[in-house]
Amino acid sequence: MELKRPLPTPRTPEAKPYWDGLKEGKLMIPKCNDCGHVHFYPRIVCPSCHSRNIGWTQASGKGKLYSFEIAHRSLNPAFKIEAPYILAMIELEEGPRMMSNLINIDPDPAVVKCDMPVEIVFEKQNDDVTIALFQPAS
Ligand SMILES: [Zn+2]
Repeated sequence: MELKRPLPTPRTPEAKPYWDGLKEGKLMIPKCNDCGHVHFYPRIVCPSCHSRNIGWTQASGKGKLYSFEIAHRSLNPAFKIEAPYILAMIELEEGPRMMSNLINIDPDPAVVKCDMPVEIVFEKQNDDVTIALFQPAS
């Protein structure tokens, strides 16, 4: 299978539960064990209280489209996703926002709307990496 995008190398320990979760079809996001703040991306200190006592919680995989851009060509030749495609900022039900692609919808501003409900799609890239994409909620 030809890869359509460069893949991350999930090696940093603070992000490992995220990548392990995706492989099992779960969206895991960091949650501070001290103040309860849920955040994304994974990091070693809580962005709310600066605690290093970070745990993980399974997110529902549901959210809404916070913002988007329809890309009409890739500026990086390593990305072979067919244009036009949708760069999306997803606001998860749990609060944090994450960058992704919105798929399974016409990349047309007449149909893609901010605040539309979305749900996660787990797309396996290889044995090590599964990525989180989003589609309109069914
Ligand atoms: Zn905290």
